[in-house]
Amino acid sequence: MALMQDASDIGGIELLTRNATPTGETARIGIPTEGRRWSEIRSELLTRKSNDFDWRSGKVPLYVYHDDDELLAVSREAYCLYFSENALGGRAFPSLQRMESEIVRMALSLFRAPQSASGSFTSGGTESLFLALKTARDHFRARRASKVRPKVVVPVTAHPAFDKAAQYLDIDVVRIDVGADLRVNIDGVRRAIDSRTILIAGSAPCYPYGVFDSIAQLGEIANGEGVWLHVDACFGGFLAPFARAEGYPIPEFEFSVPGVTSLSADLHKYGFSARGASVLLYAKADLKAHQGFRFDDWPRGSYSTDTFLGSRSGGAIASAWAVTQYLGQTGYRRLARKIMDAKERLVRGIGDIPGLEVLKPSDLCIVLYRSTDQRVDINAVAEVLGTRGWFVGRSREPQALHLALNAVHAPIIEEYLSDLRCAVQHVRATGLQGKRDDSTY
Ligand SMILES: *Cc1c(COP(=O)(O)O)cnc(C)c1O
Repeated sequence: MALMQDASDIGGIELLTRNATPTGETARIGIPTEGRRWSEIRSELLTRKSNDFDWRSGKVPLYVYHDDDELLAVSREAYCLYFSENALGGRAFPSLQRMESEIVRMALSLFRAPQSASGSFTSGGTESLFLALKTARDHFRARRASKVRPKVVVPVTAHPAFDKAAQYLDIDVVRIDVGADLRVNIDGVRRAIDSRTILIAGSAPCYPYGVFDSIAQLGEIANGEGVWLHVDACFGGFLAPFARAEGYPIPEFEFSVPGVTSLSADLHKYGFSARGASVLLYAKADLKAHQGFRFDDWPRGSYSTDTFLGSRSGGAIASAWAVTQYLGQTGYRRLARKIMDAKERLVRGIGDIPGLEVLKPSDLCIVLYRSTDQRVDINAVAEVLGTRGWFVGRSREPQALHLALNAVHAPIIEEYLSDLRCAVQHVRATGLQGKRDDSTY
């Protein structure tokens, strides 16, 4: 317990130790010889959980997308109805196949895909991006019998899952800087394209700054150079079209933009479904031919999967399907308004605190703010917020604090602002210096 005692009142240190394994527990442990009673296990789970940050009251600015208990109950009960079914078994569980297909078709229509389009349900943004790169690579190889090492060109702000996929798939990644407007430098992308380039990408929006790359300009390049354009709408895909419908200025990023080849969007973010739900969509169905896996040389028979996973949660599919049915477009629009309104209140409130400045522009619901006062160390502000129970997201470039707002934050904006105001005053008055901590997750 020595570590826990050190985690006194400084949020930053507390952050480091909360997840650390206390020294005594590093010893090898086995499965208990005799089973324990569920009531006892259950209360142990609740005890273990009690030291985690409280997402339900809006204290965590990312990871958990939540509105209210009713929506959560729909998502959870749907998940539980399909808790045991395995989506690997499409023939045994045709109802899961049908829901997957309906989710993909709803997404195709939301993102204005042409009739010729198709797609897959995946377990998350990482799998969607992995498959986009794998499919683009094999499509490229099928067209040119060349053995060159493939390369993708992405904005410096693109999600690390691009590099993760590229590492697994033996692909080079070139990351292009952003301009003053924080969108990818279009000439930089154009210059980086060569005969090895299998794909270029833009984010809609990117996670670090919340801005949309210019998908229209990337589409022009893609068409001109005959190169694959992937739009990573994992983060905001299920929010942006509804925010636009509510009158917020959201740039076009969907299949309606000429040149868009594929698009990824996560249901387990602003689709408000249980974790394990995303889609990867293609403008033309034949592109998907390069996505799947088939193996015939197995005593048990042929084995094939469309996506990366083998056994898959039926619960995640049922949750995603049920939440779309429960919310409907009206519900998603209501949530979009709630989130955008929360963002505007937060931006205004931070702007009113002397010594802080909101980084602009954020097209959707990411808020980034930094200190403009030498006496206010932003890392110290983060640590003081940590002592008040706020899990604080930080940005390295620029040194700033980072929030990805969703519906769970709407009711707590004023409380956050009040704690932030106090934290800034405290740091200014005491000259407190914080430690840099830009490990994202
Ligand atoms: C979250 C995210 C991803 C990765 O998705 P996971 O669901 O965490 O695997 C990819 N791109 C963007 C822009 C994201 O925000």
